[in-house]
Amino acid sequence: MTRILILSTTTGYQLRSFGDAAARLGIELIFATDRCHRLGNPWRDGAVPVRFHEEAASLAAIVEAAKLAPIDGVIAVGDRPVVLAAHAARALGVPGHPPAAAAASANKKRARQLFTEAGMNVPWFFEVHAGEEPAALGSRASYPLVVKPLGLSGSRGVIRADSLDQLVAAIARVRALLARPDVRANRSGIDETVLVEGFIEGSEVALEGVLTRGALRTLAIFDKPEPLDGPFFEETIYVTPSGLGAGVQQAVRDEVQRGAAALGLRDGPVHAECRVGPAGVSVLEIAARPIGGLCSRVLQFMRTDDADAGAEHGPGPTLVPLEEILLRHAAGQNISGFAREPEAAGVMMIPIPQRGMLKRVEGVDAARDIDGIDDVRITAKIGQTLERLPEAGSYLGFIFAHAPTATDVIATLKRAQMELTFTIDAPITLVKA
Ligand code: ADP
Repeated sequence: MTRILILSTTTGYQLRSFGDAAARLGIELIFATDRCHRLGNPWRDGAVPVRFHEEAASLAAIVEAAKLAPIDGVIAVGDRPVVLAAHAARALGVPGHPPAAAAASANKKRARQLFTEAGMNVPWFFEVHAGEEPAALGSRASYPLVVKPLGLSGSRGVIRADSLDQLVAAIARVRALLARPDVRANRSGIDETVLVEGFIEGSEVALEGVLTRGALRTLAIFDKPEPLDGPFFEETIYVTPSGLGAGVQQAVRDEVQRGAAALGLRDGPVHAECRVGPAGVSVLEIAARPIGGLCSRVLQFMRTDDADAGAEHGPGPTLVPLEEILLRHAAGQNISGFAREPEAAGVMMIPIPQRGMLKRVEGVDAARDIDGIDDVRITAKIGQTLERLPEAGSYLGFIFAHAPTATDVIATLKRAQMELTFTIDAPITLVKA
């Protein structure tokens, strides 16, 4: 039986979807999870307990587990396991991303250097080290620019500055964030250094894909229709297919392929973010993992070849989730017979409108009833203290929609959002009618 190792921090939707897909495909899953401060098998699911930042010990635990049950493939879910997953793939002799490439993909400065060496479209950048006086940077900077920590994700600590005063304030804010105990606990080997780089004008897209021996197969290109111009960069809507022209989409694919090669990524999922502006396509980052968590639900695939189609499931296309495609790929199967479903699909990550304690959520059923809405999932918990970017990046929840066109999907998502009212310390409605 084929066994695939899933390295993950969380439980939740994406792991269940992997589990369901594995059951359908007759694949056995082995989990390696980092569930702080617990040893042994506390969750009674046989997961290999690991610490993503303790690579040697974690790798040894995985290799030990593989002696009992050989492992045929590895998938990292979420940002933190990416480097350990790469080491595990190498140690187990199965396809994966090389460890140095996975590490480079998770380090914004290293990625910038490699993209520059590959002749890609990279904004100017420099580092500001701990203790360096930001006010002295004036001569090196031109505006607008973006300040960001090297090793956080989800736009945490990413701040636009349009003047020296704003640059100084932004660096102080990022340093304060990096000093927080919860942030310190989670980052591995990334120091206090802050990256400063030119602001890239333009719209933004995300590309979801998989690499096989270095060759990119694009599974979807998402438009992010809400402008991401700062000062903070909260993502809201992802919609696919992209409305960009075919030539621009090809340029996005080409640049992500170039970037993946520059980082040295090789086998497994990639999730890339690109800006598309007057200067062409600029790859912001390529993460060596799939699109995160609940958002992956927006991607569904169908067979475009005839093999297997219909035979088991009756007439009509059977849609399968991204996790099934990724499992097949990790198991060494050819996935070229799958393509994204024909309808447009989108997800809204419901933004947090203000800092405070979540008291009440209303309108979920009404939002779900809207034609085209697949689901509304509120993930914030009542009583939870909500914090906004740039310090913390989470969402109130997620809205999923399907429609004939991407424009319809966007309108449907916004209609659903308007039905929702979140009471955060004081009542507040997210969107004015
Ligand atoms: P993270 O890994 O935290 O998501 P990114 O470097 O991808 O960090 O930045 C997060 C977001 O901030 C991007 O998706 C983009 O919207 C914005 N951003 C980051 N760098 C730039 C830049 N140089 N120019 C314009 N926007 C940027």
